[in-house]
Amino acid sequence: MRKYAIITGGSRGIGRAICEKLAQDTDYHLLITYQSNEIAALETLGHIKKLGREGEIIRFDVSNHESTTKALTQWQHDNKDAVVEVIVNNAGINRDGLFMWMPQEDWSKVISTTLDGFYNVTNFFIQKMLRHRYGRIINISSVSGVKGTAGQTNYSAAKGAIIAATKALAQEVAKRHITVNAIAPGFIRTDMTSSLNEEDLVKLIPVGRFGEAEEVADLVSFLVSKKASYITGEVININGGVYS
Ligand code: NDP
Repeated sequence: MRKYAIITGGSRGIGRAICEKLAQDTDYHLLITYQSNEIAALETLGHIKKLGREGEIIRFDVSNHESTTKALTQWQHDNKDAVVEVIVNNAGINRDGLFMWMPQEDWSKVISTTLDGFYNVTNFFIQKMLRHRYGRIINISSVSGVKGTAGQTNYSAAKGAIIAATKALAQEVAKRHITVNAIAPGFIRTDMTSSLNEEDLVKLIPVGRFGEAEEVADLVSFLVSKKASYITGEVININGGVYS
């Protein structure tokens, strides 16, 4: 039996840092998902292999049920001895803008990437995880999902809903030694925040800087560990004090 951790959106940013951290801290094989950026996904795979860990990359659009199910069914068929113990629902996008001018497409794409993405991947594995009687599910939310952010009504709705889903699922699966938690990062330096004016925004952050993807990855690694067995249904903020 080969034990796996799947990290959606593991090709770049926070997802890549999570892959690297789990490669350092755990024995899991890593299933690194991406949507289109194969070069970046291969780079992540190269990094984890350098760290002595095995893994594969797999391409699908998390927001699309058919594409996700098809890819994961094929993977499971090709890897019959693989057991997924860890799911990190990290893939996410933003399409910011004031709500009054928000195109329907920007509303639904942001919601479906986070929320359908959570359903499509987690639901695929959950029955097997319940039979295995052990698991860790970690959902990457956002400070916007906790407090709501102007200009991000779509993103705040998606990230708030994932917190509610986390709390509900945590109660359903707790007896089978499966924990479900959410992490709510503030500003983290990645491609997603590269167009923001960091110099202005840091004035709003008590710690005085953007966070690094590795700092979020450290928290994921802790939640994956046995030390976090009694933490479930939680949302953990990591935001430099910007909101608590
Ligand atoms: P990036 O834009 O750097 O990376 C996004 C990742 O998600 C990429 O790997 C991308 O794949 C993947 N992805 C996007 N859409 C899909 C999709 N439909 N199907 C499959 N994969 C997809 O983002 P970050 O690393 O900054 O963000 C990671 C998570 O953290 C997101 O959920 C984000 O909302 C959240 N977050 C980020 C914060 C920040 O400040 N950066 C703050 C709070 C939360 P590909 O490379 O193929 O495009």
